[in-house]
Amino acid sequence: MSSQPIAIFGGTFDPVHIGHLRAAWEASEALDAEVRMVPAKIPPHRPQPVADAAARAAMLRAALEGQDRLKLDLRELDRAGPSYTFDTLASLREDIGTQRPLIVLIGADAFVGLTSWHRWRELFELAHVCVLTRPAQIPATPDALAAVVAARKVDSVGALRTAPAGCVLDMVVSALGISATRIRRLLAEGREPRWLVPQALLDDPVLLAPYRKA
Ligand code: ATP
Repeated sequence: MSSQPIAIFGGTFDPVHIGHLRAAWEASEALDAEVRMVPAKIPPHRPQPVADAAARAAMLRAALEGQDRLKLDLRELDRAGPSYTFDTLASLREDIGTQRPLIVLIGADAFVGLTSWHRWRELFELAHVCVLTRPAQIPATPDALAAVVAARKVDSVGALRTAPAGCVLDMVVSALGISATRIRRLLAEGREPRWLVPQALLDDPVLLAPYRKA
């Protein structure tokens, strides 16, 4: 089998920043995959976002303008209830069939929390997982997850094309110490996150308004 993989990069994107975009871009190039940025409407595993789903989608749309390697996929916004990745992958499988490789891109910090995700073991039946490095303190991998990874680990991008799902690959991406938390804090303090977020977010007076101090 060799068809172009589809990869999803989910998150709250509250707001989207250069760390997300550069990681997604590098993964897309390395995997030769179409990458879909998938904002969560109701993230199940963390505090609720500051900006509502429509505002976070608008920031992503502005950020992604001018290129077509990274696309915006709003399917979680159309669904009621928590935005489970399992449901997103199941819905993508309905669109693309059972054979095309499907990849979940996930930062190393988020990956160690995978065992709390809805139907986490079944995610590997629907997709590969590509774990992106992040320059942050990463907690230890829980034993249950380490065991699954040990059985599924591959060390080349090519392996992700030989099966539709089921492998785990670690990928080194540029180390950008940027988080949405930091950007929200800068804006709340009345400072400008220039060169941490795409210029398009700064150019539109409305997009970052939810985070600015009143
Ligand atoms: P917050 O600070 O609000 O927790 P965040 O910056 O971690 O937000 P999320 O939207 O929660 O952003 O992250 C979505 C995905 O992007 C996660 O898989 C996360 O690990 C990854 N990610 C976020 N920032 C980076 C970065 N600088 N480098 C690599 N991956 C990142």
